[in-house]
Amino acid sequence: MSRPEREAPAIGIDIGGTKLAGGLVDAGGRISHRTQAATPEDTVGIVAAIARLAAELLETADGPVAGVGLACAGLVDGHHGHLWFAPNLPWRDIDLAGEVEQRLGRPVVVENDANAAAWGEYRHGTGAAADTDAMALITVGTGIGGGAVAGDQLLRGSFGAGGEIGHVVLDPDGPRCGCGNRGCLEVFASGSALVRTAREVIHSSSPHVQGLRDRCGGDADRLTGEDVTAAAVDGDQAAVELLADLGARLGEGIATLCAVLDPGLVVIGGGVADAGDLLLGPAAASLGRRIVGRGYRPSPDLALATLGNDAGIVGVAALARESAS
Ligand SMILES: [Zn+2]
Repeated sequence: MSRPEREAPAIGIDIGGTKLAGGLVDAGGRISHRTQAATPEDTVGIVAAIARLAAELLETADGPVAGVGLACAGLVDGHHGHLWFAPNLPWRDIDLAGEVEQRLGRPVVVENDANAAAWGEYRHGTGAAADTDAMALITVGTGIGGGAVAGDQLLRGSFGAGGEIGHVVLDPDGPRCGCGNRGCLEVFASGSALVRTAREVIHSSSPHVQGLRDRCGGDADRLTGEDVTAAAVDGDQAAVELLADLGARLGEGIATLCAVLDPGLVVIGGGVADAGDLLLGPAAASLGRRIVGRGYRPSPDLALATLGNDAGIVGVAALARESAS
């Protein structure tokens, strides 16, 4: 690819269960144009809608476009653009890249959304300024997602199923996880876990949790993860402790990740990351107690993600640009 093309914008489209969100992303990772559409219910409709969004963004671009990338939750073979399984869409075993390429008349890159987000943070977010070529992104939202970079390459694995740090098992006798196993990191350290434990303490009679009780009008079922995070940021002691417990479990998961990947940087994103140092501090302390070789080696830096919900669009656009070079 010639230099002008390498600096051309690329298109990233994030395929969600309810919404398709697209952006024209410049070589610096900035989104200059955005477009979106509701996700149709049928496979043919979704492919057609993706092609329409891509065509609209191609039209918007003032010059050549370096590539088109699609980010999708599920088991994705990023090497071949094949999607094996999407949890939120009616897709099983389809040649997604081929289907969209046929309509668009140009090559298309497909990647798992968490992998794309990790690449976005690595290239254009928190990782861009870091002096390391090995990084992990852990997204702490309703569940826990993740992606990893090793040797300046996105770690795709063989079957599109790598980077699922949320399902690293911390306690095989622990509570049941949505994946069917027990005691995964996700059941201890996700936003859902935060809400579950907060509701448990609200149901206790401790005066310690009056602040959280007040936030949900006394109805624990109305409490959200955002409520707990906001309470912690406001200094509510019970909420601070809940986030510290969650951060400690997250640190255990990161220690396990470090035993395999040895990243120089671990980036934490997702809604629970809004708690900032109230989450990162306990996670770093827990990691320091568990990382293999502790006392004789540096720990990776822990830092907050900076691209937010745009990470998938920015990352898959960067992958599309780079795959064309
Ligand atoms: Zn699990």
